[in-house]
Amino acid sequence: MMTDRRWPALVRSRRDPGESQFGQLQFVTVETIMLKLSLVAWLIFSLAWRTTPTACRQTNAPRSVQEMLAEQLQSYMDTKAHPCENFYQYTCGNWQIQQQEQHSPRDRDWTRDRQRYQGQLLPTDTLGLIDQSVNRKLELLLRRRNESSAESDSTILEQMRLYYRSCKRLKPYNLKKYLQLLPPSNSTQWPSVGRGWRPEQFDWITTLGRLRLHGLNGVLLREEVLPRWDDARNYSIYVNKPSRQETQPTGEGAMIELLLDIGQTKRTANALARQVDDFERKLHRLQELEDDEGPREMQLGYLDSYLPQLRWLSFMRQVRSDSELDLRSTLIIENIPYLRALSDLVESESPDTVCNYIMLKCLAFLKQQGPADISRGECVAALRRSMPLASSWLVGQQFSDPQSDTHVRALFQRLKARFGQILAENRMRLSPPLVHILQQKLRAARLQMGFFQPEDVEDVEQYHVRVDLSGHSFYGNQLVLLRQRVEANHDLLSVNATNSANSTGSNLSYLSESWEASNSSPLYVRPRNLVLVPHGLLQLPIWHRNISALQQHAVMGFVLAHELAHGFDMSGMDYDGLGNIMGPVEEIGASRQFRQGLQCLQQQMATGSKWIDEKLADFVALRLAYETFFGVRDKREPRDPLMPQFSQRQLFFITFAQFFCGRTPVLSPRSQSEAHLKHAADELRVMQTLANFEEFAREFGCDKKAKMQASQRCRLW
Ligand SMILES: [Zn+2]
Repeated sequence: MMTDRRWPALVRSRRDPGESQFGQLQFVTVETIMLKLSLVAWLIFSLAWRTTPTACRQTNAPRSVQEMLAEQLQSYMDTKAHPCENFYQYTCGNWQIQQQEQHSPRDRDWTRDRQRYQGQLLPTDTLGLIDQSVNRKLELLLRRRNESSAESDSTILEQMRLYYRSCKRLKPYNLKKYLQLLPPSNSTQWPSVGRGWRPEQFDWITTLGRLRLHGLNGVLLREEVLPRWDDARNYSIYVNKPSRQETQPTGEGAMIELLLDIGQTKRTANALARQVDDFERKLHRLQELEDDEGPREMQLGYLDSYLPQLRWLSFMRQVRSDSELDLRSTLIIENIPYLRALSDLVESESPDTVCNYIMLKCLAFLKQQGPADISRGECVAALRRSMPLASSWLVGQQFSDPQSDTHVRALFQRLKARFGQILAENRMRLSPPLVHILQQKLRAARLQMGFFQPEDVEDVEQYHVRVDLSGHSFYGNQLVLLRQRVEANHDLLSVNATNSANSTGSNLSYLSESWEASNSSPLYVRPRNLVLVPHGLLQLPIWHRNISALQQHAVMGFVLAHELAHGFDMSGMDYDGLGNIMGPVEEIGASRQFRQGLQCLQQQMATGSKWIDEKLADFVALRLAYETFFGVRDKREPRDPLMPQFSQRQLFFITFAQFFCGRTPVLSPRSQSEAHLKHAADELRVMQTLANFEEFAREFGCDKKAKMQASQRCRLW
């Protein structure tokens, strides 16, 4: 029997902890792991492998990947720093200098392209670089349409080309066009657009439903289709308040910028922003309301009489516009006191303010969906956000390599085996049945390469046959695609997995509405007990079939172990091996050793307790990757002839740490505090993870008082 207390965990679990203003962003900052290698590394390889001969290529004999990586690893290090005092400075101290040197214009092509590359590369981390490389490859395919006219291309590719072409035709990205295409209802325009605003016709919940159908979510409330908490193969609608980040006031500056974008005068923009800002603050205060009723499952018909002021049926009629509502169907609703107070707040405000608030939220969302600026790469980036299923399919076609898949799978199996041994050692002194449950979950954990398996291709094809795209209407395309995703997600409600034949499929399509399918970040999907590695990840600087086994373990091994460990972190333990929220979390919480480990972690938290799952995953992952590679016995390995000054174990730590090397963000007026925080967080992550790992101090001969030794080492598993 489950307690209600656990339900919210399911909803939280959509994304990793550390929810931020947009789920997307958040997934990137939290889940993109560690992958912080250098721009330079990536550039060296991409340049070296160009088909056009370069001067460099003619004079130097081709070097092996390992030689290049060895040279690079050393060049990033600041050997004047002491590894026991600041390992981050020691391994990454020269990273930025190297980068500037490497970028000095020697090569003519480079000089010409420099501006462009720098503009595109500046803010990204390793994962951003990987994605740029993916984008470049996709772009080539999308542009190659004339040559391939003879062969019959798939519908999916055709549709992608239509989108891409419509994006290329954009002059500026004009947000106002969306407002014209998508009014708040059939009987009124937006207050800021034209003269058709009829406040008496405006109904906030209907407008919210209409925009929800076009992808907007987390504005005033959240509505989404997720795996059921008690049977993860089937789905339910979840209604909840928005996350704290989602109601965080936008700030007048950002609102004014959007309002100027859609052609408001400065004066009007100022006045509107002030009004909306006031409303946002009141709304945010509703977050303080306790959910004393707890989550409840109820029929649509009952909800309508239980919470009449919400007028939920008006919302649902917009979202399910082409089907008759079944009043007996159920949904799971949380934070009813918030929703009640929300209705009161909205009814007491002027329709102008509420409508402008919704419009601004919608504009911010649509702006983020589209191209960030009108440059080459951006249309592909926007394509991947707007057509995540199609893009994942195409990335799989281009990047999947059976040989790499086999290697990564074998690595995953070895990590699992080592984790199994650790669980069997039972440091927490759990009861044998409990250890058995954990072992079962570990055994059931799966690895999937790419969002789609070959057998899903037909479904993806079908999905795209129905989409009506045009090469000339970017804004229309954007809305059509957003709508189709929301509809497809709601169609999952009628899927009955118990009768369905292909029960082996992980069915990740519910993820496609959010950001997850549109980048190369690996992730752990709790309701599926699944580690997902997008195919785009299998390239340098993360993976290459010729990198050493040490590099494989220190980087990909760490990545896989980190994701796997999320199944055993504070949120992951809510889930059992089948992905239902029936994990033995209370029983494990009863262990004194567990509580001590947790307390130790909490004491080390500098960034707030919401990151505790990340810390835990990092600590577990480093140990798993390290022990999987070196074994647990104390034996000496021969040194790497390319870098004889380091022991193999030292090299492992350096390789691991260098994935977090990064450029200190350049200060500029917008959103920089976030970049700075992230950079600081990465640095801290390396330091804390290593300071908690006893082998590190031993290997570098750090004495007891050194900074790189935690006064108390935390270990949970
Ligand atoms: Zn993580």
